[in-house]
Amino acid sequence: MKKFVLLIISAIVFFSCEKEHDIIVPTEVSVEYNAFLQAASEQGIKINEKKFKGFILTGDITSVTATDGIHAAAYYCHKDKFIYIDTTSIPYRINREAMIFHELGHAILRREHKTGNFKTGEITSMMNANSLPNYATQFGYKRQYYIDELFNEKKSYIPYWSERACK
Ligand SMILES: [Zn+2]
Repeated sequence: MKKFVLLIISAIVFFSCEKEHDIIVPTEVSVEYNAFLQAASEQGIKINEKKFKGFILTGDITSVTATDGIHAAAYYCHKDKFIYIDTTSIPYRINREAMIFHELGHAILRREHKTGNFKTGEITSMMNANSLPNYATQFGYKRQYYIDELFNEKKSYIPYWSERACK
């Protein structure tokens, strides 16, 4: 009988935890969200989704101005635990992964903004407040560095491509 009661309690705890961890991921950003989980797994980082509720897609981010850098297109609200994304913005169309990874950096990895540039002028972190790394299309070789830095800020290194003379 004792074992049976324990089993019931475990089941209740298990299922209530399952529900608590549910995240609302709209199909518009599901590829990038899954890529984030995949990258975390490859980096050996365990993701705690507990305090993050999900995404809200909007074409009307009126509370921010152009001077808010990438947050004119997307931002994470600590108070309501949602990421807001302007799906009409240019970063959403051309640099979606970096944009969503930046916000998940705030929401899930609890990262703050980080400034800094390499000699080439390129930003040193995906968590830069003013611009996103450009690793889309032909610059795909830069992606790994920015992913490494995002998940392991303390083990950050200088990527080989930031030492080159020609951009
Ligand atoms: Zn930010």
